[in-house]
Amino acid sequence: MFDENDLLDLLPVYYRRFFPLEQFCLWLNYGGEVKTYLDRREMSFTLADDIYIRYQSFKDAEELHKELLKKCPHKIDIGAVYNHRPRERASVPVFQPQEKELVFDIDMTDYDEVRTCCSGADICRKCWTFMTIAVKCMDDTLRKDFGFEQLLWVYSGRRGVHCWVCDAAARQLSQPARAAVAEYMQLVRGGQNQAKKVVIGEQLHPMVARSVETCKQYFGAVCLDQQDIFATAEQHTTLLKLIPDDAMRKELAAAFNKLNTSREKWEKLKTVFKHRLDSRSLGRSTSRHLLKEIILQYTYPRLDIEVTKGLNHLLKAPFCVHPKTGRVCVPMDARAADQFDPLAVPTITQLESELNVALQQENPPKESSEAMLTSLKPALMIFNKFLAGLERERRISTIKTEDPTDW
Ligand SMILES: [Zn+2]
Repeated sequence: MFDENDLLDLLPVYYRRFFPLEQFCLWLNYGGEVKTYLDRREMSFTLADDIYIRYQSFKDAEELHKELLKKCPHKIDIGAVYNHRPRERASVPVFQPQEKELVFDIDMTDYDEVRTCCSGADICRKCWTFMTIAVKCMDDTLRKDFGFEQLLWVYSGRRGVHCWVCDAAARQLSQPARAAVAEYMQLVRGGQNQAKKVVIGEQLHPMVARSVETCKQYFGAVCLDQQDIFATAEQHTTLLKLIPDDAMRKELAAAFNKLNTSREKWEKLKTVFKHRLDSRSLGRSTSRHLLKEIILQYTYPRLDIEVTKGLNHLLKAPFCVHPKTGRVCVPMDARAADQFDPLAVPTITQLESELNVALQQENPPKESSEAMLTSLKPALMIFNKFLAGLERERRISTIKTEDPTDW
């Protein structure tokens, strides 16, 4: 287990030798054409004993580096780009956020009603699959329905994932536009007291149809087999509450009491539903997409849409170290989400010892930085690839705007 007290010794080493400062600033500088872009960005630090300092801003990598070494924050959060330097906000007449990446935050604690293996802040490889599903569904929708390309997915270091949509068009979205995107993507709605959280209606939206296809690939193995989510009478009663048709619900309630596993109960539900659909004896209150609604309710990403809506909301920066687990918040490749293992993400303790071993070799391999000699390498490569994508987008937009009459 990681000991939080070790942070005091390890963080100075981490910020000096592992934190990819140049790349981090390259990202937030977005090509450097708007000279004050990085300078007007809010960063906040959480120090030891939960001391929280907001409205920090840094003009370049050097200034940020000095402050990181001096304060050794346990956490760095990134906020909006304001109209003035956040540090000088008290001396300007108007201080307001202007731009920010469109961000998404998905947290495993919001999955407690659909998982049986863990609860609260705990995760294991079984329930992590819910995060894999979330990454796949959302990455698809952001790319295909909105045309965004510059997506940075990050493991939060403990129990969730973040997505930073970094296209210029996304950074410039107004608050209502962010809310519209978030609500479009939110299919699971309602709090603890609402039984039925997904309502599709008669017409199947293409985004919903596509999400169902993704979720269906996992539903059987994850919900029925691994989580065995309808096994107990209490659990299958929760399932029965999702069926508006009285007669069908009663028929299934009787049948479920004689069955044991989630898979048996699901198969029974499918058979009864199909029979009622074919014989046109399904109550009008029940959608013909009932099975899809249930699959989505048990697997589709639970979004904290307030984080997405707010322009001045802060989100933990990539490459922070999670103070409870010691794990680095590493960028991840959405296309290889199935292979991502949160429990294999290196801790700060592990990185230090890996580096010591590497440097003791007679001929240490040649790499661009010391961190590349450790198991942080794959994450750094994903980050570099993301930065190359940003640079490509910037060059294309420069060509497009260079001479608008030349065509
Ligand atoms: Zn679990």
